[in-house]
Amino acid sequence: MDHLKIRQIQPQEYPVLENFLYHAIFLPPSAEPLPWEIIYEPEIFIYIKDFGNQDDCGVVAVDNGKIVGAVWTRIIPAYGHVNSETPELAISILPGWRGKSIGSRMMRHLFDLLRERGYRQTSLSVQKDNPAVRFYERLGYKITGESEDHAGHEDYIMIKDLQKEDMNNEIKTIHDFDLNMICEYYSYVEWQGSGMHEVTLKALSFIEGLTEKSKIADIGCGTGGQTMTLAQNAPGNITGVDFFRGFIHIFNQNAQNKNIQGRMKGMVGDMKNLSFCEEEFDLIWSEGAIYNIGFERGLNEWRKFLKPGGYIAVSEMSWFTEERPAEIQEFMQQVEPGTDTISNKVAQMQKAGYIPVATFILPETCWTEHFFAPQVSVQEAFLKEHAGNKAAEEFIASERYEKAMYDKYKAYYGYTFYIGKKI
Ligand code: SAH
Repeated sequence: MDHLKIRQIQPQEYPVLENFLYHAIFLPPSAEPLPWEIIYEPEIFIYIKDFGNQDDCGVVAVDNGKIVGAVWTRIIPAYGHVNSETPELAISILPGWRGKSIGSRMMRHLFDLLRERGYRQTSLSVQKDNPAVRFYERLGYKITGESEDHAGHEDYIMIKDLQKEDMNNEIKTIHDFDLNMICEYYSYVEWQGSGMHEVTLKALSFIEGLTEKSKIADIGCGTGGQTMTLAQNAPGNITGVDFFRGFIHIFNQNAQNKNIQGRMKGMVGDMKNLSFCEEEFDLIWSEGAIYNIGFERGLNEWRKFLKPGGYIAVSEMSWFTEERPAEIQEFMQQVEPGTDTISNKVAQMQKAGYIPVATFILPETCWTEHFFAPQVSVQEAFLKEHAGNKAAEEFIASERYEKAMYDKYKAYYGYTFYIGKKI
């Protein structure tokens, strides 16, 4: 990292900000790239338009002559605008250089420049569920307000007081980036293989009474592989909800590519705090995601969004046997503590106010061919990209351990679909 230089941006370098603006938009690498023109949307382009004005201030990270990161501030009426004395910050690092503390080094450098210029504070806006919130807090930002962007996403407005001495200034960068790293890794892996397509169809075969007027929610939809299968094989309109804006972007792009955007829409949202209406849906779907809220809690809390007689279809990690070896029991306790036997899960479904309609175990190939197999090459590429990064190495080791556990103990557990009908 010694060859890396952090310095103020030079006027002849301003044009590179277009590229950094583009890279500031989160997007899993396995996705089709965003159209370049997206940066020219007025509410995005405002962050760099005519950069070089009196209040504009920027810092870049240069690695062997190549600019690999940029952070800049402007006083503009954008999402994080507070007042005419508070510059708003934007940060962007090229994909291969993330997670190496370049971001915090650039930001500190920029804070110094802002102090020299007499600014008292600087602001930014960040999506509420973006893990970077924690990173900004470590750099001294405090949440001071909330706003909504043009697409209806909820953001925090955060302000850093530049006069205050930073306490706890030393950043444990790797921990700050853990969530980002995991997300980056999984965005390389194709979630939804063709084997899963059959599983979605099988679960769908138990749902009765859907019509063109039906409303379906797909919670924790990810990039929407299974949502697409639903849209192409069931009537009605589907709303996909996921935490990650990048996944939702791909979701909506795919819907548009297949010209099905009128029937499936993705929105950013938290499954623990959904803004749906009571009795809005005929069907609630959730594949491989309900564990994020917990099987029982999800079934209970989401029930109110279903019409009477509506269906819920969720898949969840389950034990196949009453007893199992201690090694796998302990492992599961750590990674998916909500795992329970199929009969207990069915009882939980019944207790939550549903008639259990069907239960089936996902075929082994869903794991071996569609989940673990594609990861082999991804892991190698990921390790190369994060060479020397201990946290990345440990993360991949744990992923490999998970696969080893599955190979050894797959007779005892696996993903299971549960379909119920609201009483
Ligand atoms: N259903 C998809 C994705 C499953 S992965 C598939 O089967 O391919 C789990 C998904 O849940 C991820 O996309 C993750 O972003 C999302 N998720 C995790 N916590 C969430 C929350 N609190 N609210 C909404 N989505 C969440």
